Amino acid sequence: MAIHTPLPIPPPQGGRERALHAELALKKSPPLFNRLALIGVGLIGSSIARSARAQGTVREIVATARTADTRRRVAELGLADQVVESNAAAVAGADLVIVCIPIGACGAVAAEIGPHLSPGAIVSDVGSVKAAVLRDMAPHLPAGVHFVPAHPVAGTENSGPDSGFAGLFVGRWCILTPPDGADAAAVEKLAAFWRALGANVETMPAAHHDLVLAITSHLPHLIAYTIVGTADELAEVTQSEVLKFSAGGFRDFTRIAASDPTMWRDVFLTNKDAVLEMLGTFNEDLAQLTRAIRRGDGEALFDHFTRTRGIRRGIVQIGQDSAAPDFGRTHAELPVEPLPRPYAAADD
Ligand code: NAP
Repeated sequence: MAIHTPLPIPPPQGGRERALHAELALKKSPPLFNRLALIGVGLIGSSIARSARAQGTVREIVATARTADTRRRVAELGLADQVVESNAAAVAGADLVIVCIPIGACGAVAAEIGPHLSPGAIVSDVGSVKAAVLRDMAPHLPAGVHFVPAHPVAGTENSGPDSGFAGLFVGRWCILTPPDGADAAAVEKLAAFWRALGANVETMPAAHHDLVLAITSHLPHLIAYTIVGTADELAEVTQSEVLKFSAGGFRDFTRIAASDPTMWRDVFLTNKDAVLEMLGTFNEDLAQLTRAIRRGDGEALFDHFTRTRGIRRGIVQIGQDSAAPDFGRTHAELPVEPLPRPYAAADD
């Protein structure tokens, strides 16, 4: 049952988002799909809704979420043409279905929607782990439906329908992990959808995706969760000093460690093998650095830090992060005064 209907999406607020919005709007193409069904409308689902609507990538969006509160909020925000109460109702008549929920819930939802999918529909997801999603969802999807799992490698530490924004996928990668024998035209159509949202698309096997993301995303999150937890345990010793002096590096870990607990619990439960493999390598490297510190081996430390600085610069060079110092944070300006005499050049 529809509980709400169309409201215009509010114009983007921030300067950066407005610029992206304008940039994207220039590249609008005709709709690729008639009806997009979104199951789950949190950070990722609501960003897809905002972007697909802004780009005219689909003619109609039907959305649903698990709780009445979220469905109500989705309606208030005008993120969909229809907000419906059940997953089965959402997928009826949809030619594209994207499941945007925690990985651990994907299998049960696939079982629920399977009998209601239209022949020829493309079913996808956005989960951060791919082999488990493939394993859990594929058995429930009928023949004649094209299953193409996907992972937009883009996000923030925030959750829920209010946290999404249209420019989230611009310049980010979306990785498609079609199963063997997937219909090439369906894979290409989904790729075109993500490109219309501003993403770069790459295709790879699910197992390879999980290994790559274990080191680039899952392990960094585990380290952040660990270090922030350790600092918290030391709080009695350091009292408020951990927070007070957090700009020394700690606060950058806290942003990552603020990521959604449900999502990350599921990531570590479902990508256990790849994470444990990467964690083994990480522990060996940590042991090496520990030894260098213990032995006072400055050369080893310097060489290591020089290599990692190069990696950071490479990420900036390929446009995956801002070149602005300190992640582009604004810093208070002091009035510009002439340098005092001893430091100024003689002819100043
Ligand atoms: P989110 O903001 O927390 O939204 C999750 C959505 O899933 C909500 O609509 C929620 O409904 C629904 N949901 C939660 N538990 C459910 C269940 N057991 N059954 C059915 N629906 C359920 O999450 P998100 O950040 O958008 O993440 C969604 C997916 O995207 C995850 O699989 C995650 O791995 C992937 N992803 C996330 C990021 C990121 O940075 N956040 C990046 C890339 C991919 P209610 O609000 O009604 O509970």
